[in-house]
Amino acid sequence: MKNKKGIIFIVLTCFIVLGCWGAFFQVGKYYYEKSKVNAEIKVTPKAKKVSKKEKENKTNVRSGVEVCTVDTPPGEFEPWELQKNSNKKIAYITIDDGPSYNTPRILNILKENNINATFFLIGQNAERYPQFVKQEVAEGNSVANHTYSHPLRYRGDIQGFMDDVNKCDKVLKNILGDKYIQKFMRFPGGAFSTQVSLQPYREAVKQNGYRFLNWNALTGDADRNLEPVDYLINHVKSDIRGHKIVVVLMHDAPAKVTTVQALPEIIQYLKEQGYTFGVFK
Ligand SMILES: [Zn+2]
Repeated sequence: MKNKKGIIFIVLTCFIVLGCWGAFFQVGKYYYEKSKVNAEIKVTPKAKKVSKKEKENKTNVRSGVEVCTVDTPPGEFEPWELQKNSNKKIAYITIDDGPSYNTPRILNILKENNINATFFLIGQNAERYPQFVKQEVAEGNSVANHTYSHPLRYRGDIQGFMDDVNKCDKVLKNILGDKYIQKFMRFPGGAFSTQVSLQPYREAVKQNGYRFLNWNALTGDADRNLEPVDYLINHVKSDIRGHKIVVVLMHDAPAKVTTVQALPEIIQYLKEQGYTFGVFK
């Protein structure tokens, strides 16, 4: 009888000990899980900070402007091919040869219309007007490489040409630091696949890791200086016909005064035709 009581006592003690141990384990587990959640919550502000920074980098692009990321392999960059399945009509305004003292006027017009553009800059002009280069980027536009000295004669000195391209990249990088999209360029005069003599240059640019952009519409402001405003507008009207994705070429050189005068009407016409505006980043 005494033994029976002893056994019951031992069994009950075991139950109590096991029960306490189980409860203790559950409570421990609860606090462990809670601390994990807290740890996860603690990580969140840091993650948020990064995304806020990323957002800040993007928010200088004006709202409603389409951003086309330049991330294809080196070689010709063809937005009309990349976006051929899109239903959107997008116009990319590209402005070559600056900066110049026309730049602030062009930037004002872009701002008034709440749009952005991509500027292909000549390195030696960027050195002359670094404040305009910074302003272009600060206002959400992009700047890219249009060589250092704008050589227009391609006479076989491919290494010399590449040195000029690389020099422009360094100048823009020095002015803009991380805000510069490196290795995105446009050939002076363009480099279309139909220009057979430029094939070795296209290949060299590709081998050096650059993407290059041509155009599929132009104002014709390179034909002569001071082409009449109507001529420039009509040139664009005629060139964009039938194109969903339009890359319009115009110039920001000191003599291109009529380009600045024509720009508001060109933008207005593109809007009326249902285009939104895009920028390359
Ligand atoms: Zn040019």
